[in-house]
Amino acid sequence: MADVKVKCPTCQKDVRWTSDNIYRPFCSERCRLIDLGEWASGNRYIPEDAEYDDATADEIERARNNKEGN
Ligand SMILES: [Zn+2]
Repeated sequence: MADVKVKCPTCQKDVRWTSDNIYRPFCSERCRLIDLGEWASGNRYIPEDAEYDDATADEIERARNNKEGN
């Protein structure tokens, strides 16, 4: 599998796009919450990233199932 990297929208750090990283495209929960906070205050528009939408929902679901299975 290719080692895909994205930039964390909050801190611009390189983030590995793997199914382990439940916070992607963010590097951490902290950056994710910061970004959601900015949405809430209206400083950002929500990008239409259809390419990642399905994969994200599907893989988050899978990550959750894995955790519950343990
Ligand atoms: Zn970050």
